[in-house]
Amino acid sequence: MARALNFNPGPAALPLAALERAAREFVEYAGTGMSIMEHSHRGKAYEAVHDEAIALVRELLGVSDAYHVLLLQGGATGQFAMVPMNLLHSGKSADYTLTGSWAKGAFKNAKAVGTVRAAANVEVDGKFVRMPAQAELDLDPNAAYVHITSNETIAGTQWHAYPDVGNVPLVADMSSDIMWRPTDVGRFGAIYAGAQKNLGPSGVTLVIVRKDLVESGRKDIPAIYQYRTHADANSLSNTPPTFAIYMLRNVLAWVKESGGLASAELRNREKANLLYAAIDARPDMYKCPVVPEARSVMNVVFTLPTPELEAEFLEGAKRLNMVGLKGHRSVGGMRASIYNAVPVEWVKTLVGFMADFHKGA
Ligand SMILES: *Cc1c(COP(=O)(O)O)cnc(C)c1O
Repeated sequence: MARALNFNPGPAALPLAALERAAREFVEYAGTGMSIMEHSHRGKAYEAVHDEAIALVRELLGVSDAYHVLLLQGGATGQFAMVPMNLLHSGKSADYTLTGSWAKGAFKNAKAVGTVRAAANVEVDGKFVRMPAQAELDLDPNAAYVHITSNETIAGTQWHAYPDVGNVPLVADMSSDIMWRPTDVGRFGAIYAGAQKNLGPSGVTLVIVRKDLVESGRKDIPAIYQYRTHADANSLSNTPPTFAIYMLRNVLAWVKESGGLASAELRNREKANLLYAAIDARPDMYKCPVVPEARSVMNVVFTLPTPELEAEFLEGAKRLNMVGLKGHRSVGGMRASIYNAVPVEWVKTLVGFMADFHKGA
């Protein structure tokens, strides 16, 4: 068996150790005579896995007691709706920074719930190649919250310093860069992330939200969409995605064993530096449209001079067992997604191929 060098944007590569652990435990979990998937979500075996996953989130990110850690369903897109449903009180408005397709998706969903403002919009001719500067932000000091997308998975842009929003709660969609480095959770009112980029398989959505915001959250919405319902029940109000949460546990245990988020940051910076250097060294072949200060450490986008060369590039990469490099259909070009689970060696193989391809063309 040859594992592919998987640069998929999401669902994305998972750590081999997490997969192998699942394989060992798949049919019979921890001497219980059944798979973890066959266990009741109210039973001891599953509950231990569930609690361990939540405890690992708290430990790795240093989440204080002032926050709930919730494991929900519906993806990050579900949070595009749940955030305003809970936090956007009538008579208030929420500020959104429009930095790419995902931010626009969050904005559009929130608009269906209440009043929203664009606090910044960096779109030019349908393209997003930078993040707004602090001075560009048009913030409403009375906003219910300010929403940012910490990493735009499709555009390949990332907030490297989070904006200062004063006393207004900052809410971040961190789907594609959560846990890429140590993060001061205390700066945020809420953080959410679909698991399938940097945390595990699809099916589970992580929400970290300040307890006072949950407490004061709206009650005029169905109970299942209220954060308090899930906070009060330790995310066991209804049946959770047990296997996805089990895999989240495996992935986070691996992150911890491999040195935690400080080590992850070193590896991630090394990978991103290798790739951007390979691009910038050959401007006649590769171009990254993103301004240097907003380049994503997770999703590296670049183009080649012609569609023919791009097709040839993808074919050549495939021959070396590298997959998932085609850019999003809305922007074209290439995209290498290099989340926590992507080893430095894979990026070195890609960078070597980029040099050879340039020479051969
Ligand atoms: C993938 C992604 C989403 C959508 O996530 P789903 O879990 O598919 O709903 C939202 N925001 C960002 C930044 C993403 O990368």
